[in-house]
Formats: sequence, C-alpha cells, structure tokens
Amino acid sequence: MIERRQFYIDGAWRDPQAGQAFAVIDPSTEEACATISLGGQADADRAVAAAKAALPVWSATDPAERLALVERVSEIYGKRAEDMARAISMEMGAPIDMARSAQVGAGSWHIANFIEAFRSFEFLRPAGPRSPRTRIAWQPVGVAALITPWNWPMNQVTLKVVPALLAGCTMVLKPSEIAPLSGMLFADILDEAGVPAGVFNLVNGDGAGVGTRLASHPDVDMVSFTGSTRAGIAITKASADTLKKVCLELGGKGANLVFADADAKAVERGVRRVFNNSGQSCNAPTRMLVERPAYADAVEIARKLAEATPVASAHQPGKHIGPVVSAAQHDKIQDLIGSGISEGARLVAGGPGRPSDLNKGYFVRPTVFADVEPGMRIEKEEIFGPVLSILPFDTEEQAVAIANDTVYGLANYVQTADEARRRRLGLALRSGMVEANGDGLGPDAFFGGVRSSGRAREGGQWGIEEFLDSKAISGWPA
Ligand code: NAD
Repeated sequence: MIERRQFYIDGAWRDPQAGQAFAVIDPSTEEACATISLGGQADADRAVAAAKAALPVWSATDPAERLALVERVSEIYGKRAEDMARAISMEMGAPIDMARSAQVGAGSWHIANFIEAFRSFEFLRPAGPRSPRTRIAWQPVGVAALITPWNWPMNQVTLKVVPALLAGCTMVLKPSEIAPLSGMLFADILDEAGVPAGVFNLVNGDGAGVGTRLASHPDVDMVSFTGSTRAGIAITKASADTLKKVCLELGGKGANLVFADADAKAVERGVRRVFNNSGQSCNAPTRMLVERPAYADAVEIARKLAEATPVASAHQPGKHIGPVVSAAQHDKIQDLIGSGISEGARLVAGGPGRPSDLNKGYFVRPTVFADVEPGMRIEKEEIFGPVLSILPFDTEEQAVAIANDTVYGLANYVQTADEARRRRLGLALRSGMVEANGDGLGPDAFFGGVRSSGRAREGGQWGIEEFLDSKAISGWPA
C-alpha cells in the first residue's frame, strides 16, 4: 500500500495544511492501493503563492534554459517509464502492456513534439509586411492552474505542464484525485530534472475543493482544464469574476462515417478505437454511421470483434482491455447500456453486467448496439466505456446531419476512397478535428474541439501558444 500524503510546493514535498486522507482504488481489484491527501484552500493558496513568487524570474529566463530543463525531463521520463506504466495501470486500470506503450508513450510523444516545436518557436514576430515597425511579442500568461483527468493521465499532464514550462509560466497542477500517482511521479521527475522552486507545484484535491479554489483564485492568470463538460462549465463560472484565460478540453461523441467504398479494415479500425482504453477517450469514434449497402457487414464485423475482445485485470500482460476507472463510471455505463436496450436499439454484442469470468473489478463487456436512432441516449451522451453505437445512413447529407446533431465537437472520422468526398466532409463536419481513413493527424496539428468539447488547442506549437499572450509593439526599428 502506497502512502503519499504530501504535496510538491515551492521545490519540496510538504505536509498538507488541510489534508484529508483519500483512498486511491485499483479498479482491477476494487481495493485501495494508495492513500493520498485531498488538500484544502490553504494548500491551494500556498501553491499559488509559490508559483506567483517564482514567476518574475522564470518568465524572464532565456528560452534555451527552459528548453534544457524540458530535455532533462524527457530523459528522466524515459528512465522512469516502467514506474510510470505501473502507476498508471494500477490507478486507472490500463492493462500493463498498454500502459507501457500507449499511456506512457503518449507522454513521451508530446514532450518530444513540444521540444521540436520549441526549437523553431519565435517569441518575437514581424506583424506583417504592411507594418514594418510593428512586432508581435509572445509573453507568458502568468500563473497557470492545470487540472487534469484520469483517463490518459500522462497524455494530459504533459500536454499542460511541458508547454507551460516552455512558455515561461509557473504553475499548480491538480491531477485527478482518482488517478494521482502518475502525476506525483511526474513531480518527482521534474524535481530530479532540477525545476526551480515554485515554478511547478502539485496539490491533490477534488473539484469542489482545490479545483474550485484554483479556478477562482485572484493570483491565477489561466486555467487549463481537461475533463467533463460539467466541470468545464463550473470552472468557467468560477473563473469569471477574475477574468482568467480558460482553456477547456472536454467530452466528445465522435461520429465515424463509413461509406460503402471504405477500405476493408475501416470498420475494424473504428471498433478497436472505441474499445481502446476501455472506451475512456474523449475522441473515441463512438457513433459509427454506415452507408446502407455496407451496414449489415459492418454490424457483423463489429459483433465478431467485440466478442473476440478479451477483458482482464490491468495487472495481467497481454492485449486485452482492462476495467473502467471507478464504481461511479461503471454504474454510469451500465445505466447507459440499459437505456440502449429499453429505448429499442439492437444489442448485438456484450450488454449489461461484467464478463462472466470476472466477479470483481469495474469490468464492462465490450458492447455493440446496432439500429441506433438519433436521439437515443446512447447516441447523444458520452458513455466513456467500451460501447459502440451503429447507425445506418442513405445519403452523405443525412450522415452529416446526424454527425453534427450533437452538443459536442471534438473529433469526427471519415472512411471513404473518394478523395473529393473526404475533402468535402473534412470541411462540413462540425468539430475541431477530422481524421480520414485511419490517417492520424500530423505533429504540426493540435488536439482540440469546438462547442461543448471546449476550444483548447493542445500539442506542439499550438499548445505552447496557449500559455502565451500576444502583445503588439510599435516603434521597433524596421
Ligand atoms: P471530472 O471533469 O469531474 O474531473 C476531471 C478533473 O476535474 C479532476 O481533476 C477533478 O478533480 C476536476 N474537477 C471536477 N470538478 C471540478 C470543478 N468544479 N472545479 C475544478 N475542478 C474540477 O471528470 P470525472 O468525474 O472524472 O469523469 C466524468 C466524465 O467526464 C466522464 O464520464 C467523461 O465523460 C468525462 N471525461 C472526459 C475527459 C476528456 O478527456 N475529455 C476525461 C475524463 C472524463
């Protein structure tokens, strides 16, 4: 049993001032695996004060110094990869092999991509050819509060901490209280890399306590948040009186438009993407819209794949999927599966309850619904579990109308051999990202959405700019 009750504030692990014991539950066993502290206002205030005090010096450092720090972080992150994989696997249930590759790998990928983007990053740019004596300067926003969720812990922590460091911001990280161990290990890595005292601080806590205090704190200039749309709204309201910059990366209900001319692997690729990480990804293509002539085959492929997807403990090696993160998430997913059945969708694989060989742990059966209709709860709500909804369509216009009829707008997907259609749909789908034919977005793109998915722009150059304010300056020598 791990005991990590302290917070990383002003360059050292310190006892909480208002810390309440909180058990971290291993979702594979439903048993406590660690005890942390949930901080209170005094802890949040102390961390913000440290970040505020460190800001003048850190924001004025040579960018090369900040880059050197992040390069050391990258190296130590690589050395601690196995510890990180174990922490993530235990706290949120990613199967250990997947935690090593995808979960830890997402962090390495983002750190490397930020380093690459930063090498050519210009903090001072000409305003344009018609303004020869005007410059645009990019300057750190200030003290940033970083609030992250549990589903891809190092993906989200690196997407915030690393660009904040490079931009010259100081920060307070509040990782998810459900999966805080990886965030604390990341604080150890920063400490070992020699982050100056006060530049990076970590306080554990829940949304109502530390989260709300950070969002409303007068000395916090910016909040970067990833998590539920519910919390995104609460943070926006809590930050309103102090007019902070608020960057939100929220939920999604991605549509995957599969046309009859799609490649042979398109359906399989889409189903795997939904089940990956037990369905706990905001950009999962959870609504598969299939052109009528390809519909019956697609349902069959999805059924077979769901039935062939093994579910097992996160501690076991192999390519199975693990549990979902918590009892609350398990209950929510079970409720939504029940709603699919009662609203008349056709259950073709999986369904309520745990897989028959597992009687403990927050395991969910890989589930496929066909004949889902627009407006059903499983078509509208983010499920955040291994549950796929399949809907038929007859025309491209109808598919676009169904895809866009959602409050979300994170990622949509298109599968078709028709290049003109891909371009058309790339522009017509209402989301921050559109991916075609399994071709991932390149490293110069960003991760981010529109509407109720939030409008953060994370990763690479875009992600660094999020932590900077632009300033127009005249009188510069031409
Ligand atoms: P959540 O939004 O409640 O928690 C995410 C983070 O926000 C945590 O660190 C939490 O402590 C903090 N938080 C919560 N309420 C807050 C508040 N009022 N002020 C400040 N901080 C607050 O997410 P959850 O409860 O862990 O998951 C619920 C749902 O959120 C999931 O079912 C899923 O739909 C969605 N979700 C989305 C993402 C994503 O990547 N977009 C990630 C996790 C969860």
